[in-house]
Amino acid sequence: MDKPVYKRVLLKLSGEALLGKTSFGICPDVIGAVAEEIKEVVILGVQLGIVVGGGNIFRGVEVARNMDRISADYMGMLATVINSLALQSVLENIGVDTRVQSAIEMKEIAEPYIRRRALRHLEKGRVVVFAAGTGNPYFTTDTAASLRAVEMEAGVLIKATRVDG
Ligand code: UDP
Repeated sequence: MDKPVYKRVLLKLSGEALLGKTSFGICPDVIGAVAEEIKEVVILGVQLGIVVGGGNIFRGVEVARNMDRISADYMGMLATVINSLALQSVLENIGVDTRVQSAIEMKEIAEPYIRRRALRHLEKGRVVVFAAGTGNPYFTTDTAASLRAVEMEAGVLIKATRVDG
């Protein structure tokens, strides 16, 4: 088998990519299909970090009219944690070792983001899902993906906004 072009990849999955034909939340068929594709990549020997968005559940800027923007953005970050836990669970169900690291500490459900620890996970072939974006309001998960890609020294950053079919 050919060697993969990129040894380490950072994948940005927008929340919308998990919607499928639904208008809110997570479509089980779609997240299942995404997980199967991720598994194929991991089997190739690619080290994979993933940043998941939250737009399928909550986008701060869209509801901040009668809420303070910062609270709304934290709610958006929490939405990314929901998606990250879902993805971890579906991946582990099909035998892909996965760790979630959150930029906002919530130690009962995810590891805190620790760069060196994330790198060790990747080196051991575990998928690392980076949750809670950058941990800061006024940013998006695209920024988080760029940041984690640089921090993980990924060879490429790939963004998937919508999964059809
Ligand atoms: N968010 C934030 N800081 C971050 C990442 C995300 O405040 O570092 C909030 C922001 O409100 C954003 C929401 O989380 O609208 C969901 O993220 P995003 O819109 O990037 O998700 P996507 O469009 O990729 O599904």
